Amino acid sequence: GTADLECDLLVLGGGPGGYSAAFRAADLGLKAVIVERYATLGGVCLNVGCIPSKALLHVAAVIDEVRHLSTAGIDFGAPEVNLERLRGHKEKVIGKLTGGLAAMARMRKVTTVRGYGAFVGAHHLQVQETTGAGQEQTGSKKIIAFKKAIIAAGSQALRLPFMPEDPRVIDATGALALKEIPKRMLILGGGIIGLEMGTVYSTLGARLDVVEMLDGLMQGADRDLVKVWQKMNAHRFDRIMLGTQTIGAQARPEGIEVSFARVAKEHPSAPQTDLQTYDLVLQAVGRRPNGKQIGAEKAGVTVTDRGFIDVDRQMRTNVPHIFAIGDIVGQPMLAHKAVHEAHVAAEVIAGELQGDKALAGAAFDARVIPSVAYTDPEVAWVGLTEDQAKAQGIRVKKGLFPWTASGRAIANGRDEGYTKLLFDDAPEARGHGKILGGGMVGSHAGDMIGEIALAIEMGADAVDIAKTIHPHPTLGESIGMAAEIAHGSCTDVP
Ligand code: FAD
Repeated sequence: GTADLECDLLVLGGGPGGYSAAFRAADLGLKAVIVERYATLGGVCLNVGCIPSKALLHVAAVIDEVRHLSTAGIDFGAPEVNLERLRGHKEKVIGKLTGGLAAMARMRKVTTVRGYGAFVGAHHLQVQETTGAGQEQTGSKKIIAFKKAIIAAGSQALRLPFMPEDPRVIDATGALALKEIPKRMLILGGGIIGLEMGTVYSTLGARLDVVEMLDGLMQGADRDLVKVWQKMNAHRFDRIMLGTQTIGAQARPEGIEVSFARVAKEHPSAPQTDLQTYDLVLQAVGRRPNGKQIGAEKAGVTVTDRGFIDVDRQMRTNVPHIFAIGDIVGQPMLAHKAVHEAHVAAEVIAGELQGDKALAGAAFDARVIPSVAYTDPEVAWVGLTEDQAKAQGIRVKKGLFPWTASGRAIANGRDEGYTKLLFDDAPEARGHGKILGGGMVGSHAGDMIGEIALAIEMGADAVDIAKTIHPHPTLGESIGMAAEIAHGSCTDVP
């Protein structure tokens, strides 16, 4: 036909969703093509998200740890920060990973086409070639014909409509570029991304304000855990403005002037307003899916008003041979969710093209998706929180283990943590209710939450977890201890 390139599977977007789908499809024997507008694979996560933020958070955590060592009699003096070299370090981390991805794509004979892709029909995508570090378009166009497609075009940061166009107003990508450390910084949005970047900037010397419309930071996490985080991080903030709306902003020579309105529950008609000036404003108010910019309608794929694409458990859109995965299909917008969905879609597609019924029957059926704030301390959670259980009328038995009783946490000088597990306490569970959720606040919490996710997937009860021998002395022991606490003691185990 008229196509420049033909393939079994076209993947639009080279982020964690896109490359994982293409790699799995290639491993299953399909000819897969990735279309990506940027120079490297890896998407938001590798280039301007998970990985660079963690490179900087690691540096911040070491600085804070070293400062803390003063209490153990070791003093290093104030850190000398060289921003240019820190940026270089971060770039090197990204480069290693994106280079590795490119090599894996070559090894698997996955073709990457550089350019901006848009559907022009149900089986055709047009790619407008892009060059350079960004997405500058050249005149060159290509048509790719595909049997099946996966849309993995991701999301981008939301902007408040009244925020001025000004270099002092940035999003997470701008924050990761690390141009300068301001004196006064506003974090707009008290979610994971804002608080992670705030941690980095505060450790490097910025004073923080944070404003959040809802009545608590880190929505979705258990309040007992967030309380501990907030106490440990109070020193970073001049103001933590909760239940507060940002209603306007002006660029002034001396800074960005931002106005807030606090809507008191008692007097909703008379909001208290307030005005503050900042050297830097980080917008971290959420992310918008890229569904409206890919010509989806030309392929017949339905996109919601907000730009999401609805899919079924097999990641199939309303068009049977076109699938969608990752941030573009909805919350939670997390890389590990995108990867998991990618594998489902690739397997279903390979199964259908090759007549393999088992593969074609793949479906997304994870019970839970863990979340982690890689702050200091880290906050990690999975499954139901206590508030959610209460709201759903589910009776739970909880095990709350304070790290003040953990030898390892004390030895580390970091005993502020907690591990909290929730078990089904319905009468018919007869004291052996399955684990429904759990969370941890404390150092390395994110590295340990996978065990709680596994326990939920396996339907473990408190005895299963308590009787699993955890190595001593580790922070991971706290999971076994929390389970013992929830169970009462383990003496009545059958
Ligand atoms: P993306 O990673 O957004 O990839 C989509 C790709 O498609 C992009 O490369 C884009 O250029 C390309 N694309 C889009 N449209 C087109 C088009 N028309 N033509 C060609 N190419 C196109 N998640 C975690 O799990 N853990 C974390 O620690 C974490 N930290 C984060 C920190 C920050 C600062 C941010 C912003 C996000 C973070 N996330 C984290 C979220 C994570 O980055 C996303 O969930 C993940 O990248 C989604 O993957 P995806 O494949 O759906 O989309």
